[in-house]
Amino acid sequence: MSDCLFCKIVAGEIPAKVVAESDTSLAFHDIAPQAPVHVLVIPKRHVTSVNDVTTDHRGVFDELMELAQQVVTDEGVRDSGYRLVFNVGEDGQQTVAHLHLHVLGGRRMQWPPG
Ligand code: AMP
Ligand code: ZN
Repeated sequence: MSDCLFCKIVAGEIPAKVVAESDTSLAFHDIAPQAPVHVLVIPKRHVTSVNDVTTDHRGVFDELMELAQQVVTDEGVRDSGYRLVFNVGEDGQQTVAHLHLHVLGGRRMQWPPG
């Protein structure tokens, strides 16, 4: 998608601090971190949100999770714990319309989330 921020990051048109990459997915630091570790894991191929994942995107969640497992190990929070979040739609406060998994860690999280 030509006007999508995260597609532009995938294409290298907008800079990002990439921490890990696979054939299908990209992980980079969130520009406004909400925790000492805040990494976004996205599919390289555009899909708007969890709602839009179909059989046409088979394997996308496995691929994101596989890269997220690498990220939590590399970022040193695998054993201390972390939170994985998909924000979806208006009530979920999704602000970027390209599927992304937040990886948050390095501090004690609160529950329930605000
Ligand atoms: P969400 O609110 O769930 O849609 O998450 C979007 C996230 O993208 C927010 O946490 C933003 O801080 C982050 N973000 C927005 N623009 C950029 C960017 N250029 N590089 C990295 N992260 C970004
Ligand atoms: Zn996109």
